[in-house]
Amino acid sequence: MSGSDNNGRYRYNGNITDERLEVFLDMLHGDMPEYLYELEKYAGEKHVPVMRHQSAWCIKFFIEAMNVSRILEVGTAIGYSALFMAWCGSDIKIDTIEKVKERIETAGENFKKYDTGSQITLLEGDAADVLDELVDNNQSYDMVFLDAAKAQYPAYLTAVEKLLRKGGVLITDNVLQEGCILESRYAVTRRDRTIHKRMREYLDTLTHSPETWNTMIIPAGDGIAVSTKVNWQK
Ligand code: SAM
Repeated sequence: MSGSDNNGRYRYNGNITDERLEVFLDMLHGDMPEYLYELEKYAGEKHVPVMRHQSAWCIKFFIEAMNVSRILEVGTAIGYSALFMAWCGSDIKIDTIEKVKERIETAGENFKKYDTGSQITLLEGDAADVLDELVDNNQSYDMVFLDAAKAQYPAYLTAVEKLLRKGGVLITDNVLQEGCILESRYAVTRRDRTIHKRMREYLDTLTHSPETWNTMIIPAGDGIAVSTKVNWQK
């Protein structure tokens, strides 16, 4: 399962499954509150996509490292990630956007039960419209977590840039699209072509706009892009 490479360095050749890695990393990071595990289980049963633990730990790291207090999330689902972020600090306020009625209802119930410090505000509607309203109202955030319709990310970026304070952090989940992003567009099924094209476009903008974004892509979970809005920007 393991051996040495040509330089005599230790190399692990076994297959590290996502599950094994997650268990190991969870062991290091520690436990989340019980209700988050329950929500995760519920999401699994109802086939609602929620962020993976590696994304959660990454978000927690940046919240703490950058002293984040105002967060905007795009894509609430049942409220799992918003509740996770609220758990990261009692001073943190989160605005979270969701457009699907059923999910708004479930997230609302979960917030009633578990958001005991009233840290979370659920903004109902299509993200494109809500983001424009937030810009019109001169809102400002320390962190934006993008986790909604992936094909819309390039369209959201202008508003996100306005909403993020200088030096603020944008975290984008699922940027590697289960590895599909590496494929040539001809190898991608017709159904996935739009999302493939837009995600490539989005990552290209984030990594080639040094006047606005400083970005690194972490190949953990399903790929997490971490971008800071550069400090010297007007
Ligand atoms: N952040 C959540 C978590 O980790 O617990 C998971 C979010 S889920 C991956 C994406 C959510 O974005 C879905 O609930 C979906 O309904 C919502 N969504 C997709 N497109 C949207 C849009 N245009 N406006 C608002 N919400 C949208």
